[in-house]
Amino acid sequence: MIPCPICGRELRLIVDTYEAPFFDKILLTSISCECGFKHADSIVLGEKEPSRYRIKANRRNLFTKVIRSTSGTIRIPEIGVSIEPGPASQAFITNLEGVLWRVAEVVKTAMKWNESDEEKVRRCEWILERINGVIEGDEELTIILEDPFGNSLILSEESFRERLSEMETKELKSGLTVIELTGFSEEEISRL
Ligand SMILES: [Zn+2]
Repeated sequence: MIPCPICGRELRLIVDTYEAPFFDKILLTSISCECGFKHADSIVLGEKEPSRYRIKANRRNLFTKVIRSTSGTIRIPEIGVSIEPGPASQAFITNLEGVLWRVAEVVKTAMKWNESDEEKVRRCEWILERINGVIEGDEELTIILEDPFGNSLILSEESFRERLSEMETKELKSGLTVIELTGFSEEEISRL
């Protein structure tokens, strides 16, 4: 038995394999406890290396699957947003639309907390317009997914994949989820 790190009761372990055409087998693990503790992660089996995926998200490819492990960093450079590993980091499987919705939720919360700051509210509104422009309009946003351990993937032949240099790998955070919005202090977004 594996005891829960919070309460000591027995943990429930679920392991799933995910097979994607043209990609390696992916192991999805999740442990959970009656007390509410849970942790999910993804592990790519076979050959892997520090990698960066890059794709232009638009209305036609929003269904593209994204597997983000606990060590994956997602960046959307045009709107200055990144989702980095943090203390309560969980792996997630979503699609490009799901990534955009996640970011939109964070931006909406940041907007509420900074309602007295006109400049920040305007910036949040601008980001939400860009996201909406991709989901419902004809705009595009670049979605980059970097993982020093190679456990995160964008499952599309449209996505461009490259190996990260040693320097780039060192600069990536791992083990902690933090969402950063350019122009906002750490305190302003720390509770998001
Ligand atoms: Zn527990």
